[in-house]
Amino acid sequence: MKIAGQVSLSDLPRICPLLCRAAHPEYGETGTRVVEVGGVRFGNGRPVVIGGPCAVETHEQTLNVARAVRRAGADMLRGGAYKPRTSPHDFQGTGLEGLRILSEAREETGLPVVTEAMDTRLVDQVAEYADMIQIGSRNMQNYPLLAEAGRAGKPVLLKRGMAASLVEWLGAAEYIAEQGNLDIVLCERGIKAFAGGEYSRYVLDLNVIPAVRAHSFLPVIVDPSHATGVAAMVGPASRAALEFGSQGLIIEVADPASAQPMCDAAQAISPETLAGIVRFARGRVESFVETERVA
Ligand code: PEP
Ligand code: MN
Repeated sequence: MKIAGQVSLSDLPRICPLLCRAAHPEYGETGTRVVEVGGVRFGNGRPVVIGGPCAVETHEQTLNVARAVRRAGADMLRGGAYKPRTSPHDFQGTGLEGLRILSEAREETGLPVVTEAMDTRLVDQVAEYADMIQIGSRNMQNYPLLAEAGRAGKPVLLKRGMAASLVEWLGAAEYIAEQGNLDIVLCERGIKAFAGGEYSRYVLDLNVIPAVRAHSFLPVIVDPSHATGVAAMVGPASRAALEFGSQGLIIEVADPASAQPMCDAAQAISPETLAGIVRFARGRVESFVETERVA
């Protein structure tokens, strides 16, 4: 029986001719495209660690967290100025003011900034302030938004839809690439599965990491914060993600000196925990280099 719309990984050369490994022998079986964001390089063998608040709330909170993220040794700053919230009655972010705060935080710390664009009408505004445009899980299949992000002239962090297959995820990335922008980093952030919500927010799909790397040459990172929703799980999930070949991490951090975060407080880790994760990530680079030298 034929079913309409059914696709599998073997269809990738047709669906993603720009991004699938099978169509690009120049990358070989394991080569990764290096994506550079304000001097930070994804995919060169050294995991990139991004830290920051869930949302940009105030100037003081964001600057405090940014400084703490810098001190912890991370490479980039995250923080949502525009937030996708389940209820329209919840805090929606600080918008343009938040973008201005982020660029001030970049000035002071030197950390490149990634922040989410949710609306085609605001992509250019986000691109003006950010070093990398984030497309959130809920918008992974918002094709006009993907195309607009692809046209904005900045690298794009494409989160996986919470119920998206690998083919759908790579197909979404192809919409960005089609605009002539191949500076795309993929991000696994947990999927909906039967256990979701009982003991963790989503289910971290570690298995998809080697699959992404097998089927595309784009770098892939992991968001252990949204994947678990539990601060105590973020460290172990980060280490597991790196073991599975993740080329970076994006992590929510709270500054204990600031007020409790307005969103996702239960998954925010301390700067000290982030520093431990950074140390683990750096150790992996050294052992990677060591192995290479021995071989
Ligand atoms: C985020 O990273 O701020 C976020 C909302 O994540 P996701 O789109 O993965 O839910
Ligand atoms: Mn969050």
